[in-house]
Amino acid sequence: MAPSIPELYGSLVFNDKIMRTKLPKDVYKALRKTIQNGTHLELDVANSVAVAMKEWAIENGATHYTHWFQPMTNFTAEKHDSFISPTGDGQVIMEFSGKELVKGEPDASSFPSGGLRATFEARGYTAWDPTSPAFIKDRTLYIPTAFCSYSGEALDKKTPLLRSMDTLNKEAVKILHIIGNKEVKHVTTTVGPEQEYFLVDKELYNQRKDLIFCGRTLIGAPAPKGQEMEDHYFGTLKPRVSAYMHELDEELWKLGIPAKTKHNEVAPAQHELAPVFDTTNVAVDHNQLTMEVMKKVADKHGMVCLLNEKPFEGINGSGKHNNWSMITDGGCNLLDPGKTPAENTQFLVFLVAVIKAVDDYADLLRISVAGAGNDHRLGANEAPPAIVSIFLGDELTEVLKAIENDEFFSSHGAVQMDIGATVLPHFVKDNTDRNRTSPFAFTGNKFEFRMLGSSASVANPNIILNTAVAEVLRQFSEKLKDVPEGEMEKAIHNLLKETILAHRRIVFNGNGYTDEWIEEAEKRGLYNLKSTPDALPHFVSEKNAALLTGHKIFTKDELHSRYEIKLENYVKTLHIESNTMAEMIQKDLLPSVTAYMEQIARTASLKKSVVPDISVSSEAGLLTKLTALQDAMTEGLKVLKADTAKAEACEDMLEKAKTYQSVVLADMDTLRKSADEAEALIPEALLPYPTYGKLLFSI
Ligand code: ADP
Ligand code: MG
Repeated sequence: MAPSIPELYGSLVFNDKIMRTKLPKDVYKALRKTIQNGTHLELDVANSVAVAMKEWAIENGATHYTHWFQPMTNFTAEKHDSFISPTGDGQVIMEFSGKELVKGEPDASSFPSGGLRATFEARGYTAWDPTSPAFIKDRTLYIPTAFCSYSGEALDKKTPLLRSMDTLNKEAVKILHIIGNKEVKHVTTTVGPEQEYFLVDKELYNQRKDLIFCGRTLIGAPAPKGQEMEDHYFGTLKPRVSAYMHELDEELWKLGIPAKTKHNEVAPAQHELAPVFDTTNVAVDHNQLTMEVMKKVADKHGMVCLLNEKPFEGINGSGKHNNWSMITDGGCNLLDPGKTPAENTQFLVFLVAVIKAVDDYADLLRISVAGAGNDHRLGANEAPPAIVSIFLGDELTEVLKAIENDEFFSSHGAVQMDIGATVLPHFVKDNTDRNRTSPFAFTGNKFEFRMLGSSASVANPNIILNTAVAEVLRQFSEKLKDVPEGEMEKAIHNLLKETILAHRRIVFNGNGYTDEWIEEAEKRGLYNLKSTPDALPHFVSEKNAALLTGHKIFTKDELHSRYEIKLENYVKTLHIESNTMAEMIQKDLLPSVTAYMEQIARTASLKKSVVPDISVSSEAGLLTKLTALQDAMTEGLKVLKADTAKAEACEDMLEKAKTYQSVVLADMDTLRKSADEAEALIPEALLPYPTYGKLLFSI
C-alpha cells in the first residue's frame, strides 16, 4: 500500500522529528540551540550529528553526500563524495565525519566571482547551514551550505541572505523593546514564493534552438488563439498536466516542501505552484529545489518546464510573487493588524517602516529583480510595471490619512493616541485581489512583491527587503530610544505622521499599466528604471552602498563583484540570444523560405507549360512577398551580426550592456518582424521548427 501523505511528507528530510529520534538528547539540544539562536556548534556535536545523518541517509538508500550551495548564478551547485572509506583489506566502510559535515573545500575557480577571487587562490569553502534541513535526492545526502572564498568573502546568495535576516532580527527586536514589547527575543522574516511556469512538449522543444539555448522563443508568429478568451486561468487541468502536478507535489512533499496551491495561469500552457510560507532561508532553498524538481518531473512526463520570464511573445510571461512578512519567536506576525490598540500601534510602526524602506530603496528593489529575461516583463506591456509603488487598499490608506491629519489624536487632557480598536478593522484578505498591477501590494497580513522573475533565485529581493526594512527600523529606534515611557505614544504618533508625509508618494492604489501612472510617477519623483542596464548602476550608488556595507550585508568588494556579475550575465545572455537568432534564421528559416519559393516557381512554370496564357499572379505575388522578406532578413542578419560584434568590442562592461540593450535588442526586434511574417506564409510542412500554435496548445 502506498504511504499516506503525512508519512510521505518530509520522508527524505533530516528534519526535527528524525533528529529527535536519532540524536543523543544533549546533542539534539545543542543542535536546536544552534539552529534557533545561531550559536557556535562544537566539533563533538557535529561529529555526533554527522554519524546520525549518515546512518539515516544510508538507511534511505544514499551512497553519497554533497555540500549544496548557491553560487552567483541562478542555479545551485553540488559535488558528490561517496561515504566509502577503504579499510586496507580490500573492503570499505561507510564514513562521514563532523568535519566533512561542517566544511567542504570545493575548487571554486569556475564559479563567477566578479574578480573577488584570483584564480591562483582557487579554493573556496562551503559551510553547513544548520537552519536549512539536509535532505536526500537521487541517492545523495544534500547538505545546504554557504559558499565563501578562502579569505571569507561571500561567493553565494545564502551568506548575504543570512546576514540580512540577522540584521532585520536585531533591528526589529530593538524597536519592539523600545515601543514596549519587551518579551520578544527573536524576529524572523517569512516568505511564500508563488512560482509560475510553462509546460511544453519535449519533442517540440527539441526542435527549437531558441528554447534549447535561451529558454525562450526568439521568433514565432502568433498562434490564431492567444490568451484573449481568458479561458485558461483557473481552468480545468488537462490530464497530462494534472498527472504532472500530482507527481510534482509528491516529490516536493517528500523533500519537505509544503506545496499547497496549483492552478492554470493566464497564458495558455502556463501554470502556478505556491507552497505554504516558511522562514526566508528555508523558503529560498525550497524554491531553488522546487524549480529543479519541476524540470525533472516534466522530463519524466515527456514535457519541458520553461522557467524563463518571457518564453513567448504576445502572451504573459512568468514571474514569482514574493509574499513576505516578519514573525516573532512568540508567533506574532508583525504585519498582522491585530485586534487590540497596542497591537495596532506595533503593526503601524512596522507597516510604515516597510513603506519608507520601499520608497528609500525602490531602486535597489528594482535591481534585485533585474535581468535580461525579466526586462521583457517589467516595463513592457504586462504586470507589473518597472516603477516600484505600494498598493495598500482603501481601508489602510484611510488609516494612514487619519494619522496624517491627526484625526484620531485626542487633544484634551493627557495626549493619548487612539489609533486603536476604533480605527483598525481586522483586515480580511482582499479576495478579489483587486490590484494585480501593483508591484508591491499589502494583502491583509503580508506584503506581496510581484516583480520577481520566474527563473531567478528569490534570495536577492529578500536580501534587499530585509536590509532596507532593518535600516528604517534602526532609524526609528534612534528617534525613539530616549523617549520616556509616558511620552512614547505621542512620539510614535509623530514619527508615523512624519514618515507617512515624507513617503506617501510611493503609495499608489490605481492601475499601474496606464500611461497616466507613468507620468504621475515621474511627477512624484519615483524611479522608472526600465531595463537592467538602466537599473544596475544604482546598485553601487553611494546611498545603496552605504546601506549594504553599513549593515555588513556586503563588503565593498562583494558589492562590486555582484555588480560586475550582474552586468556580465546580462551581456552573456543577450550574446547567446543574438547568436541563436542569427543561426535559426540563417540555417533554418531562410532555407525554408527558399525551398518554398522554389516550389512556387516550379508550380508557376508547370502551370504555364500546360496552359501558356494561364494566370500565375498568385504565385508571382507570393514570390514577390517572400523575396522582400528574404531580403529584409538577409539585411537584418547583417546588421545584427555587425552590431553584436560592436557590442562585444566594448571594453567597458556597462557600455557593452547598454549597447546590447539599445542596439542589439532593437535589431533582434526588427529581424523578428520579417521572420514572423515569413513564417506565417510558409506551409507548416516546410517550417523548420514547430509553431506557437503547436507549442502552446498541444498538451
Ligand atoms: P494569493 O496571493 O495567490 O491569493 P495567498 O494569499 O493565499 O494566495 O498566499 C500566497 C502565499 O503567501 C502562500 O505561499 C502563503 O503561504 C504565503 N503567506 C501567507 N502568509 C504569509 C506570511 N505571513 N509570510 C509570508 N508568506 C505568507
Ligand atoms: Mg499572489
